[in-house]
Amino acid sequence: MRMLIGEKWVDKDEKIEVLNPFNNELIDTVPSGDRSDVEAAFQAAEEGFKINRNIPVHQRISILYKTAEILKSHQEEFSRTIATEGSKTIKEARKEVSRCIDTITISAEEARRIVGETIPFDSREGSENRVGYYYRFPIGIILAITPFNDPLNLVAHKVGPAIAGGNAVVLKPATVTPLSALKLGEAFIEAGLPWKILNIVTGHGSKIGDALVKDPRARMISFTGGTEVGEEIVSKAGLKKIGMELGSNSPVIVMDDADLEQAVELSVSGAFWAVGQNCLGVQRIYIHKDVYDEFEEMFVARTKKMKVGFQLEEDTDMGPMITEGEAERVEMWIKEALEAGAELLAGGKREGTLFEPTVFRNMPSSAKLNCEEVFGPVVNLYKVSSLDVAISLANSVKYGLHGAIFTRSLSNAFKAIKELDVGGVMVNDSTDYRIDMMPFGGVKWSGLGREGIKFALLEMTEPKIVCFNL
Ligand code: NAP
Repeated sequence: MRMLIGEKWVDKDEKIEVLNPFNNELIDTVPSGDRSDVEAAFQAAEEGFKINRNIPVHQRISILYKTAEILKSHQEEFSRTIATEGSKTIKEARKEVSRCIDTITISAEEARRIVGETIPFDSREGSENRVGYYYRFPIGIILAITPFNDPLNLVAHKVGPAIAGGNAVVLKPATVTPLSALKLGEAFIEAGLPWKILNIVTGHGSKIGDALVKDPRARMISFTGGTEVGEEIVSKAGLKKIGMELGSNSPVIVMDDADLEQAVELSVSGAFWAVGQNCLGVQRIYIHKDVYDEFEEMFVARTKKMKVGFQLEEDTDMGPMITEGEAERVEMWIKEALEAGAELLAGGKREGTLFEPTVFRNMPSSAKLNCEEVFGPVVNLYKVSSLDVAISLANSVKYGLHGAIFTRSLSNAFKAIKELDVGGVMVNDSTDYRIDMMPFGGVKWSGLGREGIKFALLEMTEPKIVCFNL
């Protein structure tokens, strides 16, 4: 596939190979963009902004609805692209496409709700003759940088609201999974989005990252990815708005009054969805001592039923990790944990990019598998004596995206809601529950700002105050 810059689909001699992580088969190539492509993309986006800010809202709404329709009519094709260039199974990929249709549809709906309000200027003595209001205007060019693990819907979470709000976009998708983003770009163009509003540059972050993030024409950087890269971007960005959706190692608390079957089923799914390569993935489960043994037995038995294999087979529960390098990193973290005294209850082995779903108990607090984001199929079980201890351990890491609690007690639930230091608390659900209209984002090292269309739109527009002196 080719890059989308200005009014053209652009090719280059230097290519990036897009490989199926299961067998390293070549799926396609994309151009390896360089600084000149970044320059061209920003130049085009400057014009794209002038175009989009003047498009009436009803037309933006039509384009977004039409894009959602195109996605719907090619649902299986998009799903297969996700499940071939990335790690997701075909079943997981289908869910991502259906969520992406929601994301674009909600962007259309929210476009008509970008509103302001009147200001009571006469609330101050001497201002009796003033009347006025504020409205929201688009901020300009949004630089969107996206990760590999949701290669379609996380792109839509930036491009949908950016277009709805009247902005232009320069998008850089993850190098290992650029095809879903480019196909979404094709859908927008087919839906009638004028050229230049959306520009997609494919290329390595290490090569073009600085040119992208330092460019003063970008008025906002909307980044989703790892905390380290996010921090680097913030340090280089200069005076721009920043949206950071970063990593986590989410905690789940299981109380003695929980429905254990529900807690096991949802936590296994939350731990191993997308091979654990999920920013909301369950990594630490704190279980009340009175139900610990029963929970552990059920959890390990359920984990061992998972079928690992080729992503495109309908009965595969867990596909390959994104690269062998990533699988080797997880293997090293497991080795370190075992040497530090952690006890392996299931899994632990890999073959190429295929990793067994892995369960530990007694994970030392200093082990990377406890305090860092594993971004792989590994989950730790911890026995705790009380809810206070569980909450304190849940909060003991630098991350804070989502937390969860399984309990039948309202007071337990409300205590967890109040005291968990996170951007969202799921009660009787896994940490990875999300719908696309809710405010989404983390605290501490998990991020800055919120996505979820309405909330992204607040970041991607500014209030302009207007006052008449009558
Ligand atoms: P990553 O390595 O941080 O990469 C994310 C994006 O940043 C890619 O497009 C990457 O390009 C680009 N990039 C890398 N270095 C850059 C630089 N110096 N300047 C500008 N851009 C640069 O993350 P990933 O491995 O793709 O994704 C996994 C991470 O994303 C996890 O930590 C996960 O928790 C996080 N994530 C967070 C959320 C959320 O909503 N909070 C959602 C999903 C994922 P290349 O691909 O070319 O390196």
